[in-house]
Amino acid sequence: MRYHIWTIGCQMNVADSQRVAAGLESLGYRPTDNAAEADVVVLNTCVVRQQPEDKAVGRLNQLKRIKRRHPERILALMGCMVGVRDPQPLRQRFPWVDVFLPPSDPADLWRLLAERAHVDEARELIADAEARRRAIGRPDLILPPSAGEQIVSGYLPIVLGCSHACTYCIIPYRRGTERSRPPEIIVEEARQMVAQGVKEITLLGQIVDRYGYDLPEFAAATETPLVSLLRQIHDLPGLTRLRFLTSHPNWMKDDLLRAVAELPKVCPHIEVPIQAGDDEVLARMRRGYTVDAYRRLVARIRELIPGVSIATDIIVGFPGETAEQFRHTYDLLAELKLDRAHIARYSARPLTVATRSFQDDVPEAEKERRRKALDDLQAEIIGEMNRRLVGQTVEVLVEGWQERRQRWFGRTPTDRLVFFTAAGEWRGRLVPVTITWAGPWSLVGTVTEQSPDRS
Ligand code: SF4
Repeated sequence: MRYHIWTIGCQMNVADSQRVAAGLESLGYRPTDNAAEADVVVLNTCVVRQQPEDKAVGRLNQLKRIKRRHPERILALMGCMVGVRDPQPLRQRFPWVDVFLPPSDPADLWRLLAERAHVDEARELIADAEARRRAIGRPDLILPPSAGEQIVSGYLPIVLGCSHACTYCIIPYRRGTERSRPPEIIVEEARQMVAQGVKEITLLGQIVDRYGYDLPEFAAATETPLVSLLRQIHDLPGLTRLRFLTSHPNWMKDDLLRAVAELPKVCPHIEVPIQAGDDEVLARMRRGYTVDAYRRLVARIRELIPGVSIATDIIVGFPGETAEQFRHTYDLLAELKLDRAHIARYSARPLTVATRSFQDDVPEAEKERRRKALDDLQAEIIGEMNRRLVGQTVEVLVEGWQERRQRWFGRTPTDRLVFFTAAGEWRGRLVPVTITWAGPWSLVGTVTEQSPDRS
């Protein structure tokens, strides 16, 4: 029995797909890259922009032909395209899909497998999911990843949904309101991940630094709840690295920054989107901070976490963004010199306040021009930063083998991608690599010596 999972979108989707794979492998399914030969196909979708949604629809149309020839095969549509609402409109539009799964909730797939494929073990998965729901009264718990394939770097969702309601964002409509998962469940899942060979855990949330504020456990806490969670997971023997993303500038408190600096396994890497470098645009996006507040935050992060890297997200061509307002964003990026910037063109999404209230008036060609200008600037900034690393030795956690180029790859604590060539098995190991070549998006080096794993 084979399964195929196609994933697009954010790390939360990657995490959900890892967990669905875990469940399917525990039922005896094995992965295949070829959807045409899979007994179960899961499409894990993203609708944050129009383009990934179009891609998912394209895949669904391709799979329609396969379903026609093999009606017994199971096709599941998962993620933000399904959302947390009634999937009836999707059922009408894509009647060849067997099951619609909300983000992070594959329970209906297990039910279908139990009924249709007569997989007895699926009943155990359902019972397990339901026991967990009863125990903590939450319908959105998810499975830990399996031992089927060695995952060096695993994702662990800790906050689901989002209640911030930025005017451009569809996430709150598709993933529901913000719900933090209970710390004891998270720590237990982290323990299982480490037992299965995961070396690096990245804690996920749409606003990860808001973790725990909705939980009674932290009602009387004086420190940021995420700090307490980081400490508990940090102490797990066998864990090498710990990360968290994505942060919102308004919730990045000093005690969190200090914890990143003090806890040796927590990587000095912060992902904190600015989205625009102009106050008027930020206000219309309803982000809740000003450019100056962000500027001060970057300075504070750099002050409290030595050697930190900072990544950001920016949307260009938001409705009404003038050439001058865009220039402010450009100048800010040039001034702050961040370690990474993910630039996206604004895409009007259904239901959002921006779509209902503003006209999408920046032409697509102009959006693309702005995106490219920022991308080129960022390539220059990071290219220069990376060139300074040539000759230096960095610590790399090896994630895997790149077949095409016959070389190993991994990441530094600051989330830089590093390639090296060496004989032997390096997956999952922490190795010192001396950098010999640096480009904006990756580094190449040689292993200088063997070092014992830190755990
Ligand atoms: S913080 Fe804003 S952009 Fe991020 S998920 Fe929530 S609503 Fe969307």
